[in-house]
Amino acid sequence: MNFNYTRIAPTPSGFLHLGNAYSFLLTKALAEKHGIKILLRIDDLDRERYRTEFVEDIFETLDFLEIPIDKGPKSVQEFESEWSQIHRMGLYKSALEKVRDSKLAFACDCSRKKITQMNPTGHYLGQCLDRRIPLDRLDTSWRINTLDSDFLTFTEYPDKKVTDIIPEETAFYIVRKKDRLPAYHLTSVVDDVHFGVDLIVRGKDLYPSTLAQLDLARILKEPQFLACTFFHNELIKGPSNEKLSKSAGSTSIQNLRKEGKKLSDLFLTLGQIIGAKEELRTFEDFKNHVIK
Ligand SMILES: [Zn+2]
Repeated sequence: MNFNYTRIAPTPSGFLHLGNAYSFLLTKALAEKHGIKILLRIDDLDRERYRTEFVEDIFETLDFLEIPIDKGPKSVQEFESEWSQIHRMGLYKSALEKVRDSKLAFACDCSRKKITQMNPTGHYLGQCLDRRIPLDRLDTSWRINTLDSDFLTFTEYPDKKVTDIIPEETAFYIVRKKDRLPAYHLTSVVDDVHFGVDLIVRGKDLYPSTLAQLDLARILKEPQFLACTFFHNELIKGPSNEKLSKSAGSTSIQNLRKEGKKLSDLFLTLGQIIGAKEELRTFEDFKNHVIK
């Protein structure tokens, strides 16, 4: 196995929590093991939820976790002036042109509320496919029709070949949002290709997203993304077995620091959560536990 770049790709939409810390530290452990460089890529095109203090929290958290960044911004100012996704809008626009040329995109004007009314799971089932709404109509998103999408194959870390199809959850994934900004799947693929990422570490909850992104990479003809290795990590819960969310105060890294907790305390807590038999006190302990 020979990797060049992995990445840490947080979204500034809330304060980072123990689950994010786990994923970042796992990325660092893999980077050390294989001599991979780490890119910091902050996904900031969700402008409604964006707040500068969340970007600050990302830098403070990486500092606290002692995670070295080889490529990417080192401060909020550097991020905003050089690394924001706003500066890569040209790349996203040309990708959207390729999507349009593929004839696989269709416009959809459904609201979140309407989608849930149509299907209680919240999964969109392609209701606008046959309406043939012009792609340029205002207030419509662009979705991809994957009904004819073939099997997708990729490598799950370390070297397991996986073949799968897109699940219902992302069968009509969005590539352009109603506000005309490129959507998460599109920016994620374009950025990973742009920065030469070849090992992607993400939570198991993003597995349907991985398949959507592989489908999109095939449409965009990006063999580099199709050759990426993916590590879908287990999702961890909080110390009281609660689901972690960016709004939950008690498990936010910021809160732990305010309580005067040290990095060794965080490893101890993580160790208990992931069921380590031995006490985890240092990054080395953590690394030895998570990477066999
Ligand atoms: Zn629709």
